[in-house]
Amino acid sequence: MKLIIMGAPGSGKGTQAAIICKTHNLPHISTGDILRKNIADGTALGKQAKSFMDAGKLVPDELVVALLKDRIEQPDCAEGFLLDGFPRTKAQADALAQIVKIDVALNLETDLDKLADRMASRRVCLKCGYTTSAQDAPDGICKACGDKLVIRDDDKREVVENRLKVYAENTAPLVEYYRAAGVLANVDGMQSIEDVNKAIEAALK
Ligand code: AMP
Repeated sequence: MKLIIMGAPGSGKGTQAAIICKTHNLPHISTGDILRKNIADGTALGKQAKSFMDAGKLVPDELVVALLKDRIEQPDCAEGFLLDGFPRTKAQADALAQIVKIDVALNLETDLDKLADRMASRRVCLKCGYTTSAQDAPDGICKACGDKLVIRDDDKREVVENRLKVYAENTAPLVEYYRAAGVLANVDGMQSIEDVNKAIEAALK
């Protein structure tokens, strides 16, 4: 299965992506996680990406397409994968279509007004990518690997607004792109984590 999961920032796509990948034994390819890891490791790519990410802007297509291409050409992706946070622009979707044929593009439909609050309470582990909320992890420790949970730099209120705007302008139109390609599956993303996952599994069948 070659899958994409789409949705606004804070729609829960990272959480759902992790569940889908565990259930179906697929590599979880999150361009955001890869970029954050590069920033944490101080690589040249991380240095180039950081100012865009901190401002809630998109990292330039050339950089992200190159890193994505590199990743999905690795042997563990031969049978399938799930892309989370890629593509985010039409240019990225066109580049992806040149590399591989996508089977299903899942789209988490959400209420944009409620997402800023979700993002304000989000906590992530920079070591393993685990994501949770401040309410569900009051001790600030990652349940997956025991490292420290942090607030993402780009989850600050002023940056969140920009990210939602960037999503509406650049990424939301990809829903129509994948509908036209005949691979779109819409799922109501405002339900509980379990119910969203059930709806996704039903769509994948
Ligand atoms: P995410 O973790 O998917 O919310 O991504 C966090 C940030 O990383 C985004 O706000 C962008 O700055 C950058 N980013 C991640 N994926 C992409 C992409 N496909 N294209 C451009 N920028 C990206």
